[in-house]
Amino acid sequence: MSQRVTVVGGGLAGSEAAWQLAKRGFDVDLHEMRPLTKTPAHKTENLAELVCSNTFKSTELTNAHGLLKAEMRLLGSLILEAADAARVAAGSALAVDRDVFSATVTERITSEPRINVVREEVTRVETACVIATGPLTSDKLAEAIRSRLGVGALSFYDAIAPIVARDSIDDSIIFRGSRYGKETMAGADDEGAYLNCPMTREQYDAFLDALISADQYHGHEFDEVPYFEGCMPVEVMAKRGRDTLRFGPLKPVGLRDPRTGREAYAVVQLRQEDRAGQMWNLVGFQTRLRIPEQQRVLRMIPGLAMAEFLRYGSIHRNSYLNSPAALTRHLSARDDPKLLFAGQITGVEGYTESSATGLLAGINLARLLSGNAVAVPPATTMIGALYRYMNEADPKHFQPMNANFGLLDELPERIRDKKQKREEFADRALAEMQIWIEANGIHERTAVKRVSDNRKAVDNLPGEFGESISLAEPR
Ligand SMILES: Cc1cc2nc3c(=O)[nH]c(=O)nc-3n(C[C@H](O)[C@H](O)[C@H](O)COP(=O)(O)OP(=O)(O)OC[C@H]3O[C@@H](n4cnc5c(N)ncnc54)[C@H](O)[C@@H]3O)c2cc1C
Repeated sequence: MSQRVTVVGGGLAGSEAAWQLAKRGFDVDLHEMRPLTKTPAHKTENLAELVCSNTFKSTELTNAHGLLKAEMRLLGSLILEAADAARVAAGSALAVDRDVFSATVTERITSEPRINVVREEVTRVETACVIATGPLTSDKLAEAIRSRLGVGALSFYDAIAPIVARDSIDDSIIFRGSRYGKETMAGADDEGAYLNCPMTREQYDAFLDALISADQYHGHEFDEVPYFEGCMPVEVMAKRGRDTLRFGPLKPVGLRDPRTGREAYAVVQLRQEDRAGQMWNLVGFQTRLRIPEQQRVLRMIPGLAMAEFLRYGSIHRNSYLNSPAALTRHLSARDDPKLLFAGQITGVEGYTESSATGLLAGINLARLLSGNAVAVPPATTMIGALYRYMNEADPKHFQPMNANFGLLDELPERIRDKKQKREEFADRALAEMQIWIEANGIHERTAVKRVSDNRKAVDNLPGEFGESISLAEPR
């Protein structure tokens, strides 16, 4: 008799995890609390309901989300197969009819004999299990997870500051340095840890005016975050008084520009986000500005006129774990490799990222239950790079992360042309994913073409479980 396993949460990650386990011969109890217990955002009882936008973002390999999807297709993603079946025209984006999409996932899961959907709220943490209860995990289970993993392991809100790419910052304007030259990390660069963007009074005034008047996102009612000092949006702080930011996150004291020997009127500081130093976080800039407004206003900061945003700021209600502090490399509890977490609760951000972690959690739980070692793809792949981030990010400042090229291992050679660089990233990622699949005996689901093969997106290829609709445009 085959072993029974539990997956908690019938969202994107949980549906994908259950499917992967079933395809590997395990009987799965998939627990979903809707419709008996509701969340503030879901409206239906369908599995894998999309709570907001209807797009899985780009299909192009030169886009981080496109590359992530191409890797997931190699691993046989149910979620992408359903997205293909529900696809609506949206240029190079994979947008779906949300009702057709979630109905397709529900139909596939409920007609899979190995999966038993249990409609109940889970309130205890048990093993062997994948917990994928998402950003709106029920209170009782959140409490159980907290006490199982330790106080401080789970947050209920995110307050995300934007991240920009290092090579898009203008070095002729910024300077390096830590406040009062203090650096407490052993082995850190003598030059100082932060990148500092100095502002004159005129620049500060213009920036403040733009920030105060910028259009901002108003969340759903339940999403209204009770702001406390640690997560106050920068635009709310700016509205409190013209000097509030200058005495807060933009304070210039202790930061002398080595070129002038003087302190600036105000300074925006950028803190390193990844070990390779490709990703830099705007300190204190958690924001609810709309994305085009973030681009417009934040590019007014001296040194950031050409900034490439790897992650945008946001503030949401979001239950997520401090994965670098509480979980292992394959996102399990540290004292129990068979208690895995997947989806947004692990600190990834977005539909595709959440589905990808569900996919890998299903594969890894199946491996463990079959007596095999866990396997995580290398950080040259988008999935592997996301997992590395969840494992190695600074636990003191950990915030959810979306797929982006800044997460990947650098290429062996420096390539200046951005498009060519991304093509190289994509080719390497797909080649290494195939090697990883073969090395770990993970059944390869589709043939893959790389950018260099014919410059067409992998999304054009048929899916594993039937024909996918081919809408990707030739590039
Ligand atoms: C309001 C809102 C808007 C968003 N908009 C976007 C967007 O536009 N684009 C984007 O990419 N991402 C968006 N996100 C993030 C999005 O939620 C995730 O990307 C994605 O849904 C996460 O997938 P998941 O499987 O981790 O969680 P979910 O898809 O939320 O699935 C979790 C499931 O677990 C169930 N559950 C919770 N607790 C229990 C329990 N105790 N027992 C049993 N079942 C339980 C829930 O009912 C739910 O079905 C948004 C999030 C919110 C809250």
